Amino acid sequence: MKSPVRETFLALASILVLSCFPAAEEEPKINAPFTPPYPANVLLISLDTTRADHLSAYGYPRQTSPNLEKLAARGHRFDSAFTTIPSTLPSHASMLTSLYPSSLGVRGNGQRVPQEANTLAERLGARGYRTAAFVSEIPLDASTGIDQGFQTYNGPGDFAIREAIHWIRDEQFTDPTELDRPDLRSKVDAIVNRQSESKSVSQPFFAFVHLFDPHARYNVHSDSPEGLRVPHGAYPGQRGVIENPDDFTPEHIERTIKAYDAEIHHADRRIGELLEALGSFGVADRTLVIFVSDHGETLDELLDEIPYGFDHGEFLHTRELRVPLVIALPKNFGGETPAIHRQPVSTIDLMPTILEIIGATCDAPCEGRSLVPLLFGDDLPSRAVFSERRWVSPEIPPTASRTMSVAEGRWRYQYSDEYGVALFDLSQDPHETVDVSDDHPGVRARMHSSLQRWASAHARPLWKPPGSNLDPETRRSLEELGYVVGP
Ligand SMILES: [Zn+2]
Repeated sequence: MKSPVRETFLALASILVLSCFPAAEEEPKINAPFTPPYPANVLLISLDTTRADHLSAYGYPRQTSPNLEKLAARGHRFDSAFTTIPSTLPSHASMLTSLYPSSLGVRGNGQRVPQEANTLAERLGARGYRTAAFVSEIPLDASTGIDQGFQTYNGPGDFAIREAIHWIRDEQFTDPTELDRPDLRSKVDAIVNRQSESKSVSQPFFAFVHLFDPHARYNVHSDSPEGLRVPHGAYPGQRGVIENPDDFTPEHIERTIKAYDAEIHHADRRIGELLEALGSFGVADRTLVIFVSDHGETLDELLDEIPYGFDHGEFLHTRELRVPLVIALPKNFGGETPAIHRQPVSTIDLMPTILEIIGATCDAPCEGRSLVPLLFGDDLPSRAVFSERRWVSPEIPPTASRTMSVAEGRWRYQYSDEYGVALFDLSQDPHETVDVSDDHPGVRARMHSSLQRWASAHARPLWKPPGSNLDPETRRSLEELGYVVGP
């Protein structure tokens, strides 16, 4: 018979052990490295300013994303993916280097990515990949250094998808039946010429495609489906369009949210064209497809507190931090069973994940970790993921006024010099409506010290910031988009 005293002692001892060594602090187990069956192409699609909860692929009632629904249905959908920072350049720079913005020294649009950073494009290029980027807006202009490692960098333009399709067609024509078509005879010639230049047609590609449609200001699209049609005109929330906050009526707000949703739908249609093109070029099965956003958006939630709502970057809240993330593996890699993953992951995990899928590792100073075990149905220990606020203004030095967030397991905790602390239970309250920090002082204390440790480890960037390289016109364009441009 078991002794009650001994039982109590054992229970207390296990609580003590658990509290000394919380699960989150355990070293991640080492998984055997993945060996890919062949060199897969990599297509990374980033749709700017897209809230996961506004995608029908994530259960939103409006049909905003039929093509992404198809992608998610055959891939892995991550329900708690967090950006490192709700701002376009720093977020993408973080994604493409697997470094937190504070490590990279890029926390605002208009800043410059250090040359020392070893980007995903550089690493893939070194492994024989053809690399190209097709971006849609000025925050990702090549002058920021985000272009490093891309052999082709198609600067901001309205036709990123079309350009990407043309590039993939021209660079990667591998399906012989397609090559036999008379209308593609010139492509055969092109490939023969290329081979004579000793460029192998079987070289895999890495294409990064960035779309900006859901970012204000909103365009009205004639091809929007019935439920997403909005009239032409001014929309509240678009900086500079409506100057008086009193002009926000419930009808205006509803119409503006619909305009945002219609922009997502418009982009989804273009993404559908790109994915269909992969099929018609015979490379769909051999391509790893990743869909992500750089940050979400505060829609009407803060109209009482800030004059224009419809913005991102100032506050850290799940509506700005949580991003959609879908990973669809190439054929015959295993891991093709669709799944939904709920544990918090970060956009800095993308680069280690992509590298592992192609058979490489993300060496230091990568701060993310590979999600490959999850893709193959294995466990991955819980780990804290961090986010920080964008660089705010020239008056506030980066080290002052920190606003930071940590998500781990079911919890997200944030600390701000200005706004205080808040704790949310994402399992009960995914939209973060109730601050439960007073109900869970132990969780709050644990997450606060986790944040403090992270902040002191990220007090300064890894490399000396190179300073801005912006020409006056680019600076003006950024300011027109409403950004305070970094030094
Ligand atoms: Zn953005």
